[in-house]
Amino acid sequence: MKLILLGAPGAGKGTVAKMLTKIDGSVQISTGDILRGAVQAGTELGKKAQGYMERGDLVPDDLIMGIMEKRLQEPDCEKGFLLDGFPRTIPQAEALDALLAKLGIKLDMVVNIDVPRDVIFDRLCTRRTCENPDCQAIYNVKSMPPKKEGICDKCGSPVVQRADETEEAIGHRLDTYNEKTAPLVGYYEKTGLLRTITGTSSDAVVEAIRKELGI
Ligand code: ADP
Ligand code: ZN
Repeated sequence: MKLILLGAPGAGKGTVAKMLTKIDGSVQISTGDILRGAVQAGTELGKKAQGYMERGDLVPDDLIMGIMEKRLQEPDCEKGFLLDGFPRTIPQAEALDALLAKLGIKLDMVVNIDVPRDVIFDRLCTRRTCENPDCQAIYNVKSMPPKKEGICDKCGSPVVQRADETEEAIGHRLDTYNEKTAPLVGYYEKTGLLRTITGTSSDAVVEAIRKELGI
């Protein structure tokens, strides 16, 4: 399947994407994961992106398009992909349209995961992330803590609060989402590809996507 997952930070895009990869081997492409990996590795990309990310601002569109242009041409994308956290601005969506046309790729659907703001805020404040860039497993101190406090179940690395998951940065990320990313809902509505799924459970969101796709 070839999907875009839209939704505010904390809507569950990453969790839903991981669940969908198990269905048909499509790959999850998370620009946030790629950027955090680059920051930890101290690459040129990471150095350019770090400041924006810590403030909860968006990384400039040209850096993101550079990442995606390469990523979408890797062979593992042939089976399908789940775009998680991209596109995030109208210019990114327009550039993606051009890129997909150039590569001869057609999207199946754009899924808008719609979760109330109070649920989102609470989730982000209690979210913890494995700091191993190759893992980045997500936990929640209230609803899904790791078996051993502060240690990732999957890889044994420390589980930490992201630098952009302080209350201040979270508030800013949600404002940025409303201003820059929410307009994509209207953009994709016009293409006829958009499906909005309201739901706070990722299981229910995955079921709804399967039903829409008939798989
Ligand atoms: P969340 O969806 O929880 O905010 P992500 O992991 O998707 O987290 O993104 C973390 C940060 O990475 C964002 O706040 C932003 O700074 C940067 N980022 C990720 N994807 C993009 C993108 N498509 N465009 C611009 N910045 C991005
Ligand atoms: Zn881990």
